[in-house]
Amino acid sequence: MLERYKRIEQLGWDMQLLKKAKVLVVGAGALGNEVLKNLALLGVGNILLADMDVIEDHNLTRTILFRNSDIGQYKAEVAARHVKEIDPSVNIIPFVAPVQKVFGLGVYREADIVFGCLDNIQARMDVNRYCYQTNTLFIDAGLRKIDGDVKVFGAPYNVCLDCILTQNMRDEAWRRFSCLKLRTRVEEKPGPTAPTISSIMAGFQVQIGMKYLHDASVPIDSRISVLGYIDDITTSKLSHNPMCPTHNLYEPIAETEVVQLPYQSKQLKVGELLNLVQQDMGRNAVIELDYDLITHFDCAEHDYHKAIIRRRGYVYTDEVACPMCLERDEVESHALMQEYFINHIDSESAPAILNKTLAAIGTPLYQIFKAKAMKKGELVYKYFEISGDRGMVFR
Ligand SMILES: [Zn+2]
Ligand SMILES: [Zn+2]
Repeated sequence: MLERYKRIEQLGWDMQLLKKAKVLVVGAGALGNEVLKNLALLGVGNILLADMDVIEDHNLTRTILFRNSDIGQYKAEVAARHVKEIDPSVNIIPFVAPVQKVFGLGVYREADIVFGCLDNIQARMDVNRYCYQTNTLFIDAGLRKIDGDVKVFGAPYNVCLDCILTQNMRDEAWRRFSCLKLRTRVEEKPGPTAPTISSIMAGFQVQIGMKYLHDASVPIDSRISVLGYIDDITTSKLSHNPMCPTHNLYEPIAETEVVQLPYQSKQLKVGELLNLVQQDMGRNAVIELDYDLITHFDCAEHDYHKAIIRRRGYVYTDEVACPMCLERDEVESHALMQEYFINHIDSESAPAILNKTLAAIGTPLYQIFKAKAMKKGELVYKYFEISGDRGMVFR
């Protein structure tokens, strides 16, 4: 290997291995910057980065990869550019989008490690579920002022992030949304954190990740807590929660059951996917969606109907206001709206949905769909991967 990496190789680390590695970095804020900086210094080969935010001036006290002149630009794009300045051989691909909309299960299945650098529970829960379903190592960090923690989850996934959440924390995931779980235009900002603690926690994240790539023992099912106020570090074992929604509602995808479909989510229509699935599994086959797909809203008082086919979490309150309620000057005019949503696609699904592309109903890239059908009185499952998307992610 290059002279550049001599000192890394002297650590006993294999550059060949680091160059081949594929990692996801979710979030390009304080933690994401530090994680990316470490990955860049180590010359880690392939990085996929997702973040939807733009750089604001107050970010600059915690983000080594951003400069004054970057304000107003997308964090993911700027971070990727500066990573390439550190090591031009690093193949980093930025995605300006929420992680749920961009990385499908196929992406997680091919990744070696997922670094969680997020500041909200909802995204963490969604990333956790995809890691669990694909048995991918998930190294998640969280910060609070000058405290922080790193949690490590991995195969065989005896414990997942959802196991250790309280119901209150799960509810909080939706707390910034309205009663109908609609998005409001005013987003809550996360609390303050020091650049010192993000650097410490991201250091742990990447170091554990590098050890994992080399098959060294890593603290799976553990939490490393750094208490900045008393300069203390403790590692504790996390335990499985028998009531964990993720463990109870989902299961790891068995590699043998995945059918590869050579289509792209931006071209393949929902109805076409249903046809392919039904050709394989029979006419009664049903495709499961792993999110709520909102289809329309009706006003409870007026004869008003609004069609919005969109993934839950991406509909804004002001998009579903009934004009007659608005006229009456109802402050929370969306509150009277009744929502309708679906969780599966079958032969009875509305043509308006069947005619949409997979991308248009909120499917992330390189997704793997689960389908079920009755066969000889028994329920059978199969997975279908939108393999044509692969080249859009792993470039
Ligand atoms: Zn769990
Ligand atoms: Zn109304």
